[in-house]
Amino acid sequence: MANILVIEDEVNVSSFIRQGLQEEGHIVDIAYDGAIGLSLACSTLYDVIVLDVILPHMNGLEFCKRFRESQGFSVPILMLTALGSTEDIVKGLQTGADDYLVKPFAFKELFARINVILRRKGLGYSNKLYEIADLVLNTETKIVTRSGVKIPLTSKEFRLLEFLLSNANRVLSRTSILENVWGTNFEMNTNVVEVYINFLRNKVDKGFSVKLIHTVIGMGYVLREE
Ligand code: CA
Repeated sequence: MANILVIEDEVNVSSFIRQGLQEEGHIVDIAYDGAIGLSLACSTLYDVIVLDVILPHMNGLEFCKRFRESQGFSVPILMLTALGSTEDIVKGLQTGADDYLVKPFAFKELFARINVILRRKGLGYSNKLYEIADLVLNTETKIVTRSGVKIPLTSKEFRLLEFLLSNANRVLSRTSILENVWGTNFEMNTNVVEVYINFLRNKVDKGFSVKLIHTVIGMGYVLREE
């Protein structure tokens, strides 16, 4: 959990950022202009500051300069710039921003960048979550759920499901599954893949109207929502 300050005057953008960060368990303050942002940033120790460049009262570059001068805090600043020119980006980095994103950006990318910054500070989540439909697999806790209900899997089943999820929507040949999950392509006639696919189907798909594990005849298997 981290304390994050978002200085962004576009209400839609700032509230969307706040919502996304709160869902990841962070505490978020928003300032809609640079001057208020600066007074917040100087009175609270944030873990990250997300800073727009074009702001009322004090723009982002001015904010950066003053914040770094007055506080000298090593708080990382991620700058959001609508000005995509190299010159503006360089200016932002020179005034003390650590990273930047050019608008319009994908929120997913923003959250990923923030996570990188937090991980460097030891605050981020290294958990990798795979999600498709209502199926969730957490690589860190090794917990798999469907519709929020835990599905107990053996370690082999888990690795197979993880491989299918990390290649969702891609048809995987039996050979590729054997190589990646069993670490070998021994006995090309083995039906171990079919056997384990069936184990997984019984645990993951059985009883659900939306099936996720599909056979592509003559080609292999694919995990997708159809
Ligand atoms: Ca703005």
